[in-house]
Amino acid sequence: MTLPRILVLGTGGTIAGAGSGATGAAYRPGDLALGTLIAHLDALNLAAELVPQDIAQIGSQDIGWTQWRALHAACVAAIADPAVDGIIITHGTDTAEETGYLLDLTLPTAKPIVLVGAMRAADAVGADGMRNFANAVRVVSDRESCGRGVMLVMGDAVLAARDARKAATSAIDAFRTFPRGPLARVMPATLDWFGPPHRRNEGARYAFPQALPRVAILTAGAGMDAAPVEALLGIGCKGVVLAGMGQGNAPASVLAALSRAAARGVQVVRSARVDEGIVDRNVEVDDDALGLVAARALGPAKARILLMVLIANGMTDAAHIQAAFDGG
Ligand code: ASP
Repeated sequence: MTLPRILVLGTGGTIAGAGSGATGAAYRPGDLALGTLIAHLDALNLAAELVPQDIAQIGSQDIGWTQWRALHAACVAAIADPAVDGIIITHGTDTAEETGYLLDLTLPTAKPIVLVGAMRAADAVGADGMRNFANAVRVVSDRESCGRGVMLVMGDAVLAARDARKAATSAIDAFRTFPRGPLARVMPATLDWFGPPHRRNEGARYAFPQALPRVAILTAGAGMDAAPVEALLGIGCKGVVLAGMGQGNAPASVLAALSRAAARGVQVVRSARVDEGIVDRNVEVDDDALGLVAARALGPAKARILLMVLIANGMTDAAHIQAAFDGG
């Protein structure tokens, strides 16, 4: 039987973390080279041929356009290569939702692409990285895994990158998914999809940005004034994502400053600092009058990714940006 050939793109993170010993707390994310991880994986006798390619060896808090561009290019090449069946990206969990969503927006769905990480360093007792990786291999090797967009495999669950977010700082099942539930439950020996592929044969939705426009997240707080908005405009932000209270609310003076920014061509998207929920247009805030966009189901981190991609693709009109957020 021919084994599936899986490209493994290494970026670092806690799955490659070490230094805590069995019971310590402090460790270094991305401490282990991808080759060392692959050697650990070889010992598991997984039913796949793993082809490693280094992208970076960092904590994902330091990831950015340089690594994203390298990941995107490697994925494009692997999708075009008939010898590659699928792609696994080892990644820190802090920003996995951002990398996953960026790739989801800018790659076709022809081959399965899975991000995998860990909450416990590789040398910690009860480390979850190897299990998560074995689960990722199970997912990528499955015929039904194509046509679902970029996925994240953590805590025995398969999550769509579009819906996944990190919701706990250290728990093993740190990720939640909204507004849709998980795509599947996975264990090294079993995989149960909860529905058919929903994005079969889709091309890339957007071109990968040639540069990232400066887009900031502004978190609203009770009693704040409009000075932070002016400060963001002062450093040349092309877009601002408001992480607002409740359904994307902010003090009136802040909304007024954001509206003035929108009138000057800065794209302003209202999302929520609340953990979960939809931000709809024109509920407490008159988006039509203020020229603002509602983030709908996207939280601040992912709203920022989508807004950067839209601006980089030349989108400058609030109605078109709203339509893109409506479509996720
Ligand atoms: N700070 C780490 C990272 O994102 C945390 C992790 O991987 O879980 O790289």
